[in-house]
Order: sequence, then structure tokens, then C-alpha cells
Amino acid sequence: MSDLSHLRADFPILHQQVAGHPLVYFDSAASSQKPRQVIDSLVHYYEHDNANVHRGLHELSNRSTTNFENVRKKVASFIGAASDEEIIFTRGTTEGVNLVANVWANQFLKPGDEVVITGMEHHSNLVPWQLATQRSGATLKYVPVLDDGTLDMAALDELLAGPVKLIACVHISNSLGTKNPVQEICAKAKARGITTFIDGAQAVGHVPVNVREIGCDFYAFSGHKMCAPTGIGALYARAEVMDQMQPWHGGGEMIETVTMERSTYKSGPARFEAGTPDIAGVIGLGAAIDYLERVGLEAIQEHGRELTTYALEKLVALPGLRLLGPPIGVDRGSLAAFTLACAHTHDLVEFANTQGLALRGGHHCTQPLMKRFKAPGTSRASFYFYNTKAEVDRMIDILQQAIAFFS
Ligand code: PLP
Repeated sequence: MSDLSHLRADFPILHQQVAGHPLVYFDSAASSQKPRQVIDSLVHYYEHDNANVHRGLHELSNRSTTNFENVRKKVASFIGAASDEEIIFTRGTTEGVNLVANVWANQFLKPGDEVVITGMEHHSNLVPWQLATQRSGATLKYVPVLDDGTLDMAALDELLAGPVKLIACVHISNSLGTKNPVQEICAKAKARGITTFIDGAQAVGHVPVNVREIGCDFYAFSGHKMCAPTGIGALYARAEVMDQMQPWHGGGEMIETVTMERSTYKSGPARFEAGTPDIAGVIGLGAAIDYLERVGLEAIQEHGRELTTYALEKLVALPGLRLLGPPIGVDRGSLAAFTLACAHTHDLVEFANTQGLALRGGHHCTQPLMKRFKAPGTSRASFYFYNTKAEVDRMIDILQQAIAFFS
């Protein structure tokens, strides 16, 4: 395994005891930890450059604006967009979905149309489409999930033959770890003129992502899952699609002219960024991209693969453990979701916490998927490049203790 353990020194939060034990943080799928370089970028911004962007003609505002817009270029290059004009800053994935499910959907969905999503979507890529189809009179349909945690691609083909206007699909499932064939899905949709939206919350910063290779129209992600601060993310919108879209929020900075009767709007991402943005968050996102690029996305992906396989092999050997998601050997995201016959997931996660192990328990914002797998919830261990095999060994030891305790 590519040894990235020296990078742990960059993460101050990892070096602490919880309940008298060294912290083992296996909840990066919910939110990743932040390296010193990102934390320092925020302090530097507030100590040296803080001023509103796009407004002033003074030095600090100019500096702040340049740094802010440079990050838009960084994001574009990080995810393979053709231009920084295709990058809208958002609060995160959820806001990206809601932007499209309001603006695009309000303009283009009508009664009789269909929107297709999958049975493994996070609520944030599900509820906004429920709302959008309810508003427009369109119908929401779901690609079923097979027992092995993959999408039923034959059913997808059948669904796409209907009057579908948009398909929205998660790139890597936060509950199963499944890596969906998003390139293939987008190609099938494109051949039928269907607009495509990919939820990249668990993919960006974990695997190399190239939106042009994927061939999607929209791609959303959150900074906080890839070493950046909370409250910042981005939505990629392909230029031709963005150009057709009306504004969403009205306010400062998204207009060309305003009279008492009407307004005209800027083109490009500015049209969707009303008001003062999270400038410091954007600066932190830029620092996170710099950091991840220095480590290397290939190395991060490889580390994730190896650590996850190591964990899965040890987990399945535990008595009464049921693993959800693709079988071992199938390429998947860096997480393992499981149930234990002897303990409810909340009891298990609380037990783990008494040992300094941070797991996630519950439905992981995928209630329909939990129902599909007849699991009230699961325990989830999710990994990032700062995690080690020794930490996985510690988790297995704690789970063995839990099995003895609850049996
Ligand atoms: N989509 C997936 C697959 C996720 O895992 C998450 C968060 O866990 C989201 C969307 C929502 O992300 P955020 O809460 O950062 O908007």
C-alpha cells in the first residue's frame, strides 16, 4: 500500500485521545478532517486579505477577488471542466442539487415528463427531485438496486426509453460504496437527449474526476468531504446548459442593471451567486485542492482501495457480520457498511465511541435504500488517505470486544 501515514502529521485533530484511547476517525464520508495547510489558509486570509469580492477598487478587495477567482480556475481544472465559467460556487452538494432541481426543473419539466434517479440516492439527490416533479406534474422513477449493491442496468435501459427529461445519479454511494458507471449512464442518456446530473459528494478528492470524460451536464460536490472547510462546494454546469438557465436567488452581484420595473442578469456563474459568497470557504477549498494535488489523486485512490479491501477481508470474518454493497474484489469507494447480528447499530457505534473509534450509524440519509436491504440502519466505517492499517486492526479488535459484550 502506498504509505501516506507521514501525512497524518498535517492533521492536528487526529492526534488526540477520545475516552482515554487514541482517536480512530473512520467517519470521513460524513466529513473529512482538515490539514494544517487548509486551516492556515483561512487564518492567512482573515489576517491579510479579508475584503468583499467583486465590489471594491481598493487593494484588499482586488486581492481577495483575484484569489477567489483563481480558486474557480483551480476547481475547473481539478474536475476537468472546459472553463472556470462552468463552475458555480455553492454551499455544497445539497445546494447544487437544489439549484438545478429548482431552476432547470422549473424551466424544462412539464406534466407527462419523467425524471429518473436511482434507488441508492442520498436524500439530497432525492427529495429535491420529489419536490421538482410534484411542482411540475412530472413523474419520478427509480433505477432499482440489485442484491450486490449495483444498479440494474437493464432496468435503466428500459426506463430511459420513456419520456425522460433528466437522470440524476450518485457517482459513489455513501451507503454501499458502489462506484456507478456514470460515464456509461451519461452516454446512454445523451444518445436520447436526456440531461444528466451526477452527485459527486463521495468522489471528488477521493478518485480522479473528469466531468468531460464522464460526459455529464451537471456535477455537484462538497468541499468538506475533501479536506476543505464546511459551507463551500461547487456545481459544474456545462456551458450550453448553464446559458439556458434563469437566475435562482436574486440579489447583489448577479445583475447587470436594475430598474424599479425589472432587472437584467449577468451571464455565467455570477448569475447564480447572489450576495456575498463564502469567500474564506473558497480560499480554503483552493488550499484543499492544492494539498490533494500534491498528494496525488492516483495515490489517494490506490490507498483507499487497498485499505478498504484490507478492512473488508477482516470484517467478513467476524461472526454475525453482514456486509452491504459490492462484494470484495469489486472496485468501490473507501467505506464498509455492515450490520452485526448481536447489536443494534446505535449500540455498536456508542460502544465504539467508548473506545475512541468514530463510526457512523443509522440510515446515512438513504432511507429507501435501507428499506430495500431490509436494514433499519448500518454501521459505516469510511476511510481517507490519513487512515492506516493499524487503525483498521484497532477497529476489528473493538468490534470483537463488542461482539463478546453484546452476545
Ligand atoms: N450526496 C452524497 C452521496 C453524500 O454522501 C452527501 C453527504 O453525506 C450528500 C450528497 C450531501 O452533501 P452535503 O451535506 O455536503 O450537501
